Amino acid sequence: MSEWKKNDKFETVIEDISETGEGIGKTDGFTWFIKDTVIGDRVEAKAMKTKKSYGFARMERILEPSKNRVEPKCPVARQCGGCQLQAMDYKEQLTFKERKIYNNLTRIGGFTEIPMLPIIGMDEPWRYRNKAQFPWGMDKEDNIITGFYAGRTHSIIGCEDCLLGIEENEDILKIIKAHMERFGLRLYDEETHKGLIRHTLIRKGFKTGELMVCQVINGKSLPHQEELVEELLKIPGMTSISYSVNREKTNVIMGNQVENLYGPGYISDYIGDVKYRISPLSFYQVNPVQTEKLYGTALEYAGLTGGETVWDLYCGIGTISLFLAQKAKKVYGVEIVPQAIEDARENAKLNGMENVEFFVGKAEEVLPEQFEKNQVYADVIVVDPPRKGCDEVCLDTIVKMGPKRVVYVSCDSATLARDLKYLAERGYELSRVRGCDMFPHSGHVETVALLTLV
Ligand code: SAH
Repeated sequence: MSEWKKNDKFETVIEDISETGEGIGKTDGFTWFIKDTVIGDRVEAKAMKTKKSYGFARMERILEPSKNRVEPKCPVARQCGGCQLQAMDYKEQLTFKERKIYNNLTRIGGFTEIPMLPIIGMDEPWRYRNKAQFPWGMDKEDNIITGFYAGRTHSIIGCEDCLLGIEENEDILKIIKAHMERFGLRLYDEETHKGLIRHTLIRKGFKTGELMVCQVINGKSLPHQEELVEELLKIPGMTSISYSVNREKTNVIMGNQVENLYGPGYISDYIGDVKYRISPLSFYQVNPVQTEKLYGTALEYAGLTGGETVWDLYCGIGTISLFLAQKAKKVYGVEIVPQAIEDARENAKLNGMENVEFFVGKAEEVLPEQFEKNQVYADVIVVDPPRKGCDEVCLDTIVKMGPKRVVYVSCDSATLARDLKYLAERGYELSRVRGCDMFPHSGHVETVALLTLV
């Protein structure tokens, strides 16, 4: 055990930021994780919980602020669990993310020369989210409030106007709150599993201006629906109003079923020239502006001239597949979630694209099977796996198929580095790497890498 005890005070300088956004400082070789700090801050902190070689501490006082420290724009930035980097100047956030990618590629990937292009940041890193799910609760004076969960808890921090979200959120939430008060609707209580009103889902198509509201309820129907619809329709752009029944004791927000109250049951949006239909339950990237840049980069790296056969592994609802299909002869998508593939096929039809075909299944099963049985071929393979990266069987099959180019889109640069190393040891050369900031003020960063067969 360390000699540190709870509530011990100490001084340290923040040198780095953890995966989850805490500042990292040291005292005589002991490592501290301290929330709400920025690289370069000299702080006084208080020990909360200690292990053998590291501990968690609470920031008590900033003794000397980092030159990159800024006043968070959002008044609840410190309590809310949503943003980790708001106190860091946006330029510095981008530098931090770029360095994270670079460090992982050198430390884990073993690369010495990294052909890195400047990270793609946002010109305006606020109000970029097209989707929000607001929980409802009571404050100490028994007022109805909504906002966001404080980090790692279910206590609600009141905030109707998150600065990452759209401006319409606030007006929509006011209408829903007024409706609850007017008709005495009860809030859902997680502990007793009683009460009706659960989360409110709000989505917007940034290119179309279309708005969607879906109210989640613990009950069969939403009382006084007509009055609610009438009020919500006063908001310009309101296109789809529905409710979702979720009677389970669960942290999952949406129920499986959606009942339509107004409109076609979906909204539409575009990424580039490709149109997407978004229903309350369908997956859609939350930052459409950066998604367009990210997929634009993937498309550029794919180097398509119109004659290529492309595989898009981990394709989700086919966003990248359809983007590529604009410039390829044929695109095959593979995704494990059947519902996502239904959406992908629907979106292909919506855009009149006939040169795409989708498979439901694991990439590491579908690809080897198609390769061994049907000798399928690829000029280019694009992968966009979840955080854990690609399965080795999948990488191995890619190597066997020997496409000229592999484009790797990643949301975790540590597993990216591991997988790139595997491919680089088997005939591929790392030709380009570029970060893209999809989630300003959070610690996350997306990366696109291009590998070329040598
Ligand atoms: N490119 C997609 C998003 C990819 S997110 C888009 O833009 O919509 C990663 C996707 O991989 C998720 O949809 C997830 O369901 C899927 N997935 C996870 N494990 C998988 C596996 N073993 N094989 C295929 N798909 C998988």
